[in-house]
Amino acid sequence: MHNSQVSPSNEIDRRNALKFCAALGGLAALGSGSGVLHAATDSPAGVAAAEKIITTSCHVNCGSRCVLRAHVANNVITRIETDSSGDDVYGMHQIRACLRGRSMRQRVYAPERLKYPMIRTGKRGEAQFRRVSWDEALDAIAAKMKDIKQRFGNEAFYLNYCTGNLGGTLSKCWPPAQTPVARLMNCWGGYLNHYGTYSTAQISGTMPYVYGANLGNAISDIVNSKLVVMFGNNPAATRMSGGGIINDLIVAREKSDVRLIVVDPTYTDTAAVADEWIPIRPGTDGALCAAIAHVLISEGMVDQKFLDTYSVGFDEAHMPEGIPANSSYKAYVLGQGPDGKAKTPAWAAPICGVPSETIIRLARQIGQAKPCTISQGWGPQRHSNGEDACRAIATLAVLTGNVGISGGSTGAREGAFSIPFTLFPTLTNPVADSISVFMWTDAITRGTEMTALRDGVRGRDKLKAPIKFIWNYAGNALINQHSDINRTAEILRDDSKCEMIVVHENFMTPSARFADILLPGTTNLEENDFAVSEAASAMAYAIFAHKVIEPLFESRDIYRVCADIAGRLGVAEKFTEGRTRDQWLQFVLEQSGKNLPSLPATLDEAWKLGVFKVKNPGGPFVAFKAFRDDPVANPLATPSGKIEIFSKRLWDIGHNWELPAGDRISALPEFSGEPEGYLSPLRSKFPLQLVTFHYKQRTHSTYGNVPWLKEVAPQELWINPIDAGPRDIRHLDKVRVFNDRGTCFIEAKVTPRVMPGVVLLPEGAWYAPDAEGRDHGGSPNMLTTQHPSPLVKGNPQHSSLVQVAKA
Ligand code: SF4
Repeated sequence: MHNSQVSPSNEIDRRNALKFCAALGGLAALGSGSGVLHAATDSPAGVAAAEKIITTSCHVNCGSRCVLRAHVANNVITRIETDSSGDDVYGMHQIRACLRGRSMRQRVYAPERLKYPMIRTGKRGEAQFRRVSWDEALDAIAAKMKDIKQRFGNEAFYLNYCTGNLGGTLSKCWPPAQTPVARLMNCWGGYLNHYGTYSTAQISGTMPYVYGANLGNAISDIVNSKLVVMFGNNPAATRMSGGGIINDLIVAREKSDVRLIVVDPTYTDTAAVADEWIPIRPGTDGALCAAIAHVLISEGMVDQKFLDTYSVGFDEAHMPEGIPANSSYKAYVLGQGPDGKAKTPAWAAPICGVPSETIIRLARQIGQAKPCTISQGWGPQRHSNGEDACRAIATLAVLTGNVGISGGSTGAREGAFSIPFTLFPTLTNPVADSISVFMWTDAITRGTEMTALRDGVRGRDKLKAPIKFIWNYAGNALINQHSDINRTAEILRDDSKCEMIVVHENFMTPSARFADILLPGTTNLEENDFAVSEAASAMAYAIFAHKVIEPLFESRDIYRVCADIAGRLGVAEKFTEGRTRDQWLQFVLEQSGKNLPSLPATLDEAWKLGVFKVKNPGGPFVAFKAFRDDPVANPLATPSGKIEIFSKRLWDIGHNWELPAGDRISALPEFSGEPEGYLSPLRSKFPLQLVTFHYKQRTHSTYGNVPWLKEVAPQELWINPIDAGPRDIRHLDKVRVFNDRGTCFIEAKVTPRVMPGVVLLPEGAWYAPDAEGRDHGGSPNMLTTQHPSPLVKGNPQHSSLVQVAKA
């Protein structure tokens, strides 16, 4: 059934398609020009004398950082172009922005820009505010901070997950400990921290149980592979820019004709340039991997010597002490474990929707290709059972001995090359308490009941205080990006629970509507900052992003806001150490220069240079190479020092933690069904699996208000013709997507690019409720659950069942 989709390889010449992806990421232009300059503020021939071109950056949370070159005249941005410097040789290549970055002018001049400070007048969430002066707003914040601290202590202050300015240095908004807000709070007694991310909670939290760390080979290393298998990984959409990983993939595929297989419920842009797409039901990767392992074991294709030397837990001869017999992965796969089920391809096929013969063929390809790259994106782990799924994918790399070698990988996501750029110093948080990033609504409603063994509280057995004050700086997870919007809104509307929410933002976002005090922030084009690369293989870089225009309206940057509040709290000197924002940038530059001597010495030199690039002096990064070369001298950071297919730590946690009914923590990467998955009884009521994906229109919710981008990539529910037909849904019909948590209305995109039984809704669309609380923006979190994953308490936003009807 599931191979009745379109035939990708016949439809698109994959080389041309890769170039098309590059164009979307870096070549096609909205308002781009042909001015070619290197220095940051030159005026080329043909550009009006009063006009300057200033180098700045796009540094939102997409994994890339891109050069923007803003044309400015009389403090007005007239257009945006991107990096056109140098001769664009790979390794020192241009860092070309995607369409989002090139539309930045529409963000700066958006009608939704916040113009002045405001204080709430209506009920929380109604977005009724009155204009106030900065002094009145900051006085009110400081007074409430003192009040809450006196009644609940610093543990009641929370810095919410916010990533709209992720790539900045002085304006960095996440992780909380690296932000100016953290420095302010640390000067004044600290705050409740969080661990994990909405992007990677499950994989970042569980890979260390396998490898001691979460690392993979660089994607450029696929030139040394004989086969590449990607599970739920779509760099053509999630890492699209001239500086990002898509460029590494393009170049690697031009150098090598290595076969690429993509396993994904969706015919993604990466699947479109692959040699084979294997559609799979969401949340069933663990079953597919167990069946592949069954073939590898049955046909003698596991690397037994590697397993014996480098791992524990594969077979009964290599198990930790005190564990019952038949608890190894081999016993689980062969049906000798407690469940007694052999995980054959015939067992897995009806679960995964992947035919047995395809599973066998895939397993043989993986077993025979030496070396083989097995990697995953972050889709498979963003499930209720994602903690086991991501370990199961990694286990394939271990069974085949592909860890620690060039051309292999670990089953994790691709690694990157980076430079040691110094962060803005934020001091030490005196509060040790920390919660999972996904549990903050619970910390509002039942904070003091939350414990280490039941709720994953860290740093303390039980939370000392509920969240009473939220800082929400440059983010939309307060309402839009957190699961189950209706539940979140209900919790936030009660201002006797969380008593104050301060939002520092550029726009009237869905989250800004829930502010008590709303502060207009500068966009990054209205401030000086540095943006340092995060995910690239051949080159690392820092963009010296100069202020392009003076701040619009009454907007202020976050450093200035925190410094002014610090003054009201009596910690101004401790916060500023006598430095202005630019003097801190100079400090960061000097500190970074100790590790990077060729960095510019002064800010003036940095602005003039624009972009500082460092070519990777070595080959592609190989994860755990030292361990592979000498496992005794270089043990992994696991209790055994080896790869742990069976984790004794997880065994102990699984037996000691208090888990809700139905949840389990397994020592092995076993497959289990989800509360809302293909095997769930709830499918009789809500038969379709909803999965979200990263969309070119936005970076999460950032750029979600740009008209150009909405036109290019409208928000739509992707549905297969097999599911659309019986519902009388035709392409572009308005549909109602619903479950017991909520309803949203959106147009349908009827397409074979998504497998039957699955519907896709791009994440990040701005929630737009009507009077009855039904969303008309197509925001998937109307439908997603707040039930966290068992171990790391992460967000399972791909584990949601829905029904769809014509509206
Ligand atoms: S959204 Fe990402 S890829 Fe696009 S311009 Fe910005 S940083 Fe670059």
